[in-house]
Amino acid sequence: MSVIDEVLAANEIYARTHELRRLTPRPERKLAILTCMDTRLSILTMGLKTGDAHIIRNAGGIVTDDSLRSLVVSHYLLGTEEFMVINHTDCGLMHSTEEDLRTRIQNRTGTAAVAPAFFYAFKNVDENVRHQLQKLRTHPWIPEKVAIRGFVYDVTTGLLREIKDP
Ligand SMILES: [Zn+2]
Repeated sequence: MSVIDEVLAANEIYARTHELRRLTPRPERKLAILTCMDTRLSILTMGLKTGDAHIIRNAGGIVTDDSLRSLVVSHYLLGTEEFMVINHTDCGLMHSTEEDLRTRIQNRTGTAAVAPAFFYAFKNVDENVRHQLQKLRTHPWIPEKVAIRGFVYDVTTGLLREIKDP
């Protein structure tokens, strides 16, 4: 049985009670979080319940065209008023460079197929968070009344550390 088959079996059991049926698409606590897809960070580590917030995830927790699209939809269509950007220690994107990732994947596949324009590799996690905050704070479609704050999640201690502007 593959993991996907296991998930389907678990879903059948879940659907018998479907306890999340009462939730609406609007985050109850009007919060949107942009973070990495890393397995070690979850709503549990932030004291949130399903339904409390939008969680937008990609490799690194990067403001890209697409995560920006989600944040804009989150605010204008679904009423979120605070944005949290969370990067984390020991991120996979810190252990490589754009060049290295591209070369490594091309060597393994033997082809330069349709590729992402950027992998958004980075070296300094604090700087990376600041960079994402700048992209959001300077965007004309994100109103000033939306609170935007950035954090680094320490995967060893489990703590969030706020990144203040320089
Ligand atoms: Zn990561």
